[in-house]
Amino acid sequence: MDTQTKHKHQSGKLFIVATPIGNLQDMTFRAVQTLKDVDVVACEDTRTSRKLLDFYGVETKLMPCHDHNEQYAAKQILDLLEAGKDVALISDAGTPLINDPGYHVVHLLRAKGFDVITIPGACSPIAALAASGLPTDIFTYLGFLPRKGKTRSVLLKRIADARDTQVFLESPKRILKTLQALQALENMGNRPCVVGRELTKIYEEFIHGTLDEVAAHFEAQQGRGEMVVMIGAGEAQEASDTAILEALSSAQEKGLSASASAKQVAKDLDVSRSRVYDLIHPKAEEQ
Ligand code: SAM
Repeated sequence: MDTQTKHKHQSGKLFIVATPIGNLQDMTFRAVQTLKDVDVVACEDTRTSRKLLDFYGVETKLMPCHDHNEQYAAKQILDLLEAGKDVALISDAGTPLINDPGYHVVHLLRAKGFDVITIPGACSPIAALAASGLPTDIFTYLGFLPRKGKTRSVLLKRIADARDTQVFLESPKRILKTLQALQALENMGNRPCVVGRELTKIYEEFIHGTLDEVAAHFEAQQGRGEMVVMIGAGEAQEASDTAILEALSSAQEKGLSASASAKQVAKDLDVSRSRVYDLIHPKAEEQ
């Protein structure tokens, strides 16, 4: 039996358990049962988590696992699993590892061949995106944007160039500055923007409009509460059929063959060659 199979049969498991992002009722039955069943719950702040566990009548022992001790905590959790104990990992709110501690723990345990079970639930970027009205089929999650330097400007540019919905976290203190930095980039003012704040709480709010409008909102009113920011994709400026046909005839007037013209026009107008071929096909048949 290899090490991995051996671990699976004889050792404890790690459960990654999502907890509420504001509304205490956003706990799944499975999450509560898991927190009751495991031997230890690893959490960021034991006082914060004790309140949640008390609310659900969970008496399981807590151990700290936060940004400043995660490597050490990972080894402690490894020892517990090796001793046959089950451990749940939670964060202060939402899904662990999503801009919260836990990566080192999961990475280590997976590398050692232990079972890591996910117990899904609240996750602020996903909750925000789902209710934003922006396209959800493809999106990019950027976590917290860097506060300064080249990495920040590179990321802002990436948001500007994106063809899918961009989702990131921002603090109320920095929201206006970040929206203004995005506005300063070319063609950004009209991009769709949604800020989801205080999700699942009493004052949940979605501020939406163009980037210019949402920035104006935060100019008039200081940001407050926890927030997720989403920027809709820029419009792909596809050339019209007329523009393609005009470019084709001018290429052919210059003496290019039909196929060389199509290739050239597709490149110049940044459209697919098949779209150009579809437009010239009737002409090609006539020839
Ligand atoms: N792991 C968490 C999750 O799954 O939501 C995210 C943790 S991150 C340290 C905390 C940030 O998430 C906040 O600063 C805010 O940007 C966002 N956030 C958390 N709860 C939120 C809520 N109820 N409404 C809006 N944003 C929230």
